[in-house]
Amino acid sequence: MNSFRPEDLDLPRIPPDRAREYRHRRWWLPERVDRLVLRHVADHPEKEAVSGPSGRLTRRELAHAVAGAAAKLSALGISRGDRVLVQLPNDLELVILPLALMRLGAHPVMAVPSLRRRELLSVVAATRPTAVAVPRRWQRFDHAALARELQQNCPSIRHILVADRTPDVGLAGPGTTDLVEMCRPDPEARHMPDLGPPLDDEPAVFLVSSGTTGPPKAIARAHEGYGYMIRTAAQWAALSPDTVYLAVMSGAHGFVLNCPGIFGALAFGGRVVLGSPGDPAATLDLIDHERVTHTTLVPALVTQWLNEVRQRGHGPGSLRVLQVGGARLEPAPATEAQMLLGCTVQQCYGMSEGLLTYTALDDSGDVIAHTQGRPASPGDEIRIVDEDGKEVAQGEAGELLTRGPYTVAGYYAAPEANARAFTDNGFYRTGDLVRIHPSGGLVVEGRIGDVINRGGEKISAGEIESLLSEHPLLQAVAAVAMPHAVWGQTVCVFAVPFDPETQPTLLELRRFLTERGVATFKLPEELRIVGALPMVGVGKINRVALRAAAAERQAQA
Ligand code: AMP
Repeated sequence: MNSFRPEDLDLPRIPPDRAREYRHRRWWLPERVDRLVLRHVADHPEKEAVSGPSGRLTRRELAHAVAGAAAKLSALGISRGDRVLVQLPNDLELVILPLALMRLGAHPVMAVPSLRRRELLSVVAATRPTAVAVPRRWQRFDHAALARELQQNCPSIRHILVADRTPDVGLAGPGTTDLVEMCRPDPEARHMPDLGPPLDDEPAVFLVSSGTTGPPKAIARAHEGYGYMIRTAAQWAALSPDTVYLAVMSGAHGFVLNCPGIFGALAFGGRVVLGSPGDPAATLDLIDHERVTHTTLVPALVTQWLNEVRQRGHGPGSLRVLQVGGARLEPAPATEAQMLLGCTVQQCYGMSEGLLTYTALDDSGDVIAHTQGRPASPGDEIRIVDEDGKEVAQGEAGELLTRGPYTVAGYYAAPEANARAFTDNGFYRTGDLVRIHPSGGLVVEGRIGDVINRGGEKISAGEIESLLSEHPLLQAVAAVAMPHAVWGQTVCVFAVPFDPETQPTLLELRRFLTERGVATFKLPEELRIVGALPMVGVGKINRVALRAAAAERQAQA
């Protein structure tokens, strides 16, 4: 079991001189992330640590649940260096299982529940997990059936762990393991050997990229850098043992899991409440009931909250910090949120690959409204460059490149993507268009590429286009962002049929994409049938014209 060596993984490494510097500055500490997250268990073991739809756990029960799950995973043959795909909704297993895997030195591969066959196939092809963990059904989708399909396509998958709380147990099918049972607190759990400090480059978790340039890619986050990021992010958000952190959006996303999120709140002695985005009224009631102090939202949800708070005439009393990121928060709702919600708004920008920026809690209202904050660590290096890779003049917009103590040096097992996405000297090309505000903060203007950001979920226009180009009725197709009151942007498809008399409907195109296993958030919400696509230069689709057309018709609607 201890034959695991990070060098055997196809893992781009941070070069030794930079690693030495990060250790010298005590940014990187010889500490495993599961230890960091559970470091408060011994003080006040009866204090509540986490609650979710299925119940509540004290710190001691959480520790017993993690130990019990680690022992049971080990009995299944899962060991150090194995990867396990974790696609779970916000409930207790989402916290217990990743920590139990880390306890064994195995690596959770965190996937949000909205991903479907197409995205997950590329993740399992890259990570070759030993097991997958899913709910049996969630939001009317049969995750257990998809897990079996993944298993048929990926022979490394030996176990399917199914979280199923319905009384008709056993329906997940033969060869599955009961994840709820596995994660029950077990004070008698067999003691797992202490793995000691992490090895150089040893991954704690794998996050999944948002797939802005095609299918999602796996991102191995090493213990040292990942732990540093959680500690740093927790300081920016002023987490303490009084913190009650509410996970509204999927806790499998890095923004909610580790920025500082669920792991940060636990690591700083706070309590975690696992909720769901559903109905803003119910979420605001939950905040009052649980005395929530911190939470994280995408801008689309902020808009919904503001509507609800306006109707109620008061904000959530206990909330101190509302972190907003994942997509651009416009100055107007940022200002309104500061006024109406009665808490500090913290703008956050970042990416699963690493870099995080935050506005400070004591920044002026103006800076909070107009910037996405400053890099979280003094070790973050940023460059803003033009199309030729030259630094732009101060205050001008360009592509953001970054490297630093918690930004990865490349995707896992993806040499071609790495050649495109990382420079020779290890900077990650974010694809984001940014400029520096006079206050020193970053302003994110948009994307360089053709990415549609639907409430924080990133959709590659190219991916939708290449799938729809296989539709038998279509000779040409373009997908662009269309403004949307709630989601910020949605997908609008412009399609040229072979025969104007035989046109597909929006519903047919959505069904066509669903049959190809595409995540539901990527489905187009508008279809425009056109005679031809506008072009610029040599055969390049004029996306500016299409985006304008999409926005115009939307405004008239
Ligand atoms: P993900 O890896 O899913 O977290 O997506 C990272 C990408 O989300 C970034 O590269 C940006 O394109 C976008 N993003 C994240 N936060 C913000 C923000 N505050 N404003 C604008 N875009 C953002």
